[in-house]
Amino acid sequence: MSPRALRPQARPTARLAGRRPPRHGGQSRGGAVVPSPPAVLLKQAAPFRLASRESHPGRTIVNAGAVAIGTGDLVVMAGPCSIESRQQIRETARRVKAAGAHMLRGGAYKPRTSPYDFQGLGRKALGWLAEAGRESGLPVVTEVLSPEDVDLVAEHADLLQVGARNMQNYALLRRLATAPKPVLLKRGPSATIQEWLLAAEYLLSGGNHQVVLCERGIRTFETAMRNTLDLAGVALVKQLTHLPVIVDPSHGTGKRALVAPASRAAAAVGADGLLIEVHPCPRRALSDGEQSLNPGEFAELMQTLQPRA
Ligand code: PEP
Ligand code: MN
Repeated sequence: MSPRALRPQARPTARLAGRRPPRHGGQSRGGAVVPSPPAVLLKQAAPFRLASRESHPGRTIVNAGAVAIGTGDLVVMAGPCSIESRQQIRETARRVKAAGAHMLRGGAYKPRTSPYDFQGLGRKALGWLAEAGRESGLPVVTEVLSPEDVDLVAEHADLLQVGARNMQNYALLRRLATAPKPVLLKRGPSATIQEWLLAAEYLLSGGNHQVVLCERGIRTFETAMRNTLDLAGVALVKQLTHLPVIVDPSHGTGKRALVAPASRAAAAVGADGLLIEVHPCPRRALSDGEQSLNPGEFAELMQTLQPRA
């Protein structure tokens, strides 16, 4: 585990007890004692066989570069929605690292709802991201949109993000199942928890056991926020699976002012990490500026996630 990983202020007691049980089945597994799945979900064996806690009583630890996710400490990944220039990603890397982030995020291939919106700078941006990661010492996470790009993105990134819109892109999942890097699987905006875990099952059953789940908000009747962040779902998924679960409060709320409270709430329900959009100048961002923190706001949030003295 990265020595700088955070211990959130409000850890569920279950996560504080009995950390790091014996390693399991060749995979690096450890972590906290977690309550058994609710009885109602145990009437039948879980259809997500390999993801279920019955199949692996311990916790899976996912290694992204030198950072371990799923140990019980909160891993913070931060950076811009889109990589817009070499200078922008290098500056962001420097500032989020100084604030205590453990990983750098940045989009090179962007899944945009409108084809007329900024689509990302692709291969060029991947190179800048890898460079910024090396310079700052932060492992990097970025999205891969299609099976043909998996090799290229895997050469540059430490963690391969499957975006919400691609959660059920089975050709992409099958390809990532044989990739040499861990996968960050976002929950689809309309996916049930079972569908999300079955999507993870494609990766696990295809041979990639290094999978992190990411709750990023789902679509509900509520329109006051971009999405409805399903934090109870995070607590439930932590009971159902041995895989680490992180939370994206940026897409989960769509509002800058909600990112800090949602981050603290995510830590309190037992999330293993956070994925937070940070831009040097959010009002100039080419995508998702309204939900991005500036580096100062991010540094303040990190302070509130520091352990109590
Ligand atoms: C992103 O992380 O920038 C992104 C596009 O997220 P999502 O797939 O959750 O919409
Ligand atoms: Mn975004």
